[in-house]
Amino acid sequence: MRLRNITGADEVIEKSEYVIKEPEKMKGNWKTVMKQPAPLHIEIGMGKGRFLMDMAKQNPDIFYIGIEKYSSVLLRAVQKMEETPLDNLRFILMDAKEIESVFDKEEVERIYLNFSDPWPKDRHAKRRLPSRQFLERFDHILKADGTLEFKTDNRDLFDFAVEEVKPAGWEIAGITYDLHHDETMNRGNVMTEYEEKFSSKGNPIYKYIIFREH
Ligand code: SAM
Repeated sequence: MRLRNITGADEVIEKSEYVIKEPEKMKGNWKTVMKQPAPLHIEIGMGKGRFLMDMAKQNPDIFYIGIEKYSSVLLRAVQKMEETPLDNLRFILMDAKEIESVFDKEEVERIYLNFSDPWPKDRHAKRRLPSRQFLERFDHILKADGTLEFKTDNRDLFDFAVEEVKPAGWEIAGITYDLHHDETMNRGNVMTEYEEKFSSKGNPIYKYIIFREH
């Protein structure tokens, strides 16, 4: 994602009621932010937030949290929320490396990774969100029967992600190498900003759903 320093982004985010400040203080207590008990689903690397806003509109009984590393990107999601506020969606500005300091064991029911940064150099493999290092972090916060859904148009990243599943102690529940032409996997699919952009160029979209081996 192209990054520019946007003047004032930090201030807008600091003031926004839709961005959770000091999220580590909520660890173990996320249920108290929700108006009524609801499953907690998170997207890591949410970008401008279109996927989560559509998901939150469609599923008012699920509470969504979007995590984004850069304030210049999160700003766009915050601005959209100011226009169309949603009760069941909040954002966190943070690096997902620190995710275990924010969510407790089994606190999250589903994790979405959408069009994660590929980090093509081998020496950066552990920065990839579907790497075994990140899967281990996710293992610590996800409910025992929780699932992680990952989609991308990057074949190298997807092949890497698939190879990481077993060694990390997870199993594949569903996989497709052409999401938009796979009737089962595509049912209820909500497109992300990147998905719209790359599929309109004719790129196939790859997706897996994984869960932990018990
Ligand atoms: N998910 C969106 C979509 O599909 O349209 C955005 C995809 S964009 C390629 C990847 C996003 O993930 C960027 O906004 C980037 O800043 C964010 N990101 C990458 N690594 C991250 C990390 N470790 N923690 C939080 N956000 C991260």
